[in-house]
Amino acid sequence: MVFRILHSFRLLGIALDGTPRRGLALNLAMKKNAIYLDYNATTPVDSQVFAAMEPYFKDLFGNPSSASHQWGWTAESAVQKARNQVARLIGAAPQEIYFTSGATEANNWALFGLITKIKAENPNAPIHILSSNAEHSSVLQTLKMAQALGVEVDFVPVDSTGRVAVSDVKKLLKPHTKLLSFIWVNNEVGTLNPISELVELAKENKIYLHTDGTQAVGKIPVDVQNIEVDLLSFSAHKIYGPKGVGVLYIRSKNPKVQINAHIMGGGQERGLRSGTLNVPGIVGMGKAAEIASEILVSENERQEKLRSYFCDLLKSEIPEAQINGHPTERAANTLNIYLPDYHPSQSLGGLQNLGVSAGSACASGSVSLSHVLKAMGKSEAHIESSIRVSMGRETTQEEIQEAIAILKKLSTAKETSVFN
Ligand code: PMP
Repeated sequence: MVFRILHSFRLLGIALDGTPRRGLALNLAMKKNAIYLDYNATTPVDSQVFAAMEPYFKDLFGNPSSASHQWGWTAESAVQKARNQVARLIGAAPQEIYFTSGATEANNWALFGLITKIKAENPNAPIHILSSNAEHSSVLQTLKMAQALGVEVDFVPVDSTGRVAVSDVKKLLKPHTKLLSFIWVNNEVGTLNPISELVELAKENKIYLHTDGTQAVGKIPVDVQNIEVDLLSFSAHKIYGPKGVGVLYIRSKNPKVQINAHIMGGGQERGLRSGTLNVPGIVGMGKAAEIASEILVSENERQEKLRSYFCDLLKSEIPEAQINGHPTERAANTLNIYLPDYHPSQSLGGLQNLGVSAGSACASGSVSLSHVLKAMGKSEAHIESSIRVSMGRETTQEEIQEAIAILKKLSTAKETSVFN
């Protein structure tokens, strides 16, 4: 009996002291020759980022809130360095950067922080918010909760490319509209919203503008001096930083944006976001931001070329394939592809060696159809046969050739369903 238990532990890759056995963990992690094209879901941590983080798990373990000794001061100065690095990436001032646990939290906070601030000042003031039906679920669900609590929210329909029209937003403005919240780069199809024009509209009408910039920051130039958004959310793990760290940028002048705290406690992050700071994570986010600032332009150009290569090869190998999204207003790394002859239920396991996403990775685990493609007016059959390919710094032409060969097999294989 004891032997059997020990044996099953070994099979699970768990050493007797409870730690996973390294070899097996790596085998489970990924197969040889597998191609990862799901960089919008997450990116690997850059090795320079990892090296920068490492000391802060061990020797430099201090709490930045410990103001009375060197352990605390060291941690505090590492956080300040990271704040400067992140600020530089988006043209902000360091004191406008607030660290969070990710973009989900930053989105929740931006929206509820503003709503509760307005309500605290004037409990009877009506609040109207405009957003779109193609937002990330961390915006959609937060706004649905706000609606349930009495906030008026209108979700502007996007067009067939996933983009909102400024004229549609304008038509829906009300005297008590307080906030516009629109995603900058759509995570599922890569379409860019006209954020610059939306900022102008918001300014003309003295409304705040929040944007979910998770797929924009570090990928396309984002400069809050140039495109004057009021609130901007983003995340470290989309830019080769660690998971579990993000940022909410809050404009401090022209205008000074004031929102309420949403996590109360010890008063970290200038009293607005309490909780002991995740120092290694924040250091990693800083380093990731520094690297992104350096290579953004060249990497963007490289990925533009790769995308053209992908599209040309796709056209010649799978002529019936179509691209979902905007033909020109789009991020370089994202391609959402409709493969008419690809039916996931008939190709179970077919994507095993190809790390792409059907719909949004954040929504996977549930089998719901992509709400973004639905918002773009696509049919159920079209959505089921669509996949998202998102490239990254490690993507090569050879990988693209192999990926297209796999997609070709998938879209031509008329396998019988395993349920037959
Ligand atoms: N917004 C967008 C556009 C995203 O792509 C994601 C990640 N899928 C998020 C928000 C959530 O980010 P995080 O994982 O940092 O909470």
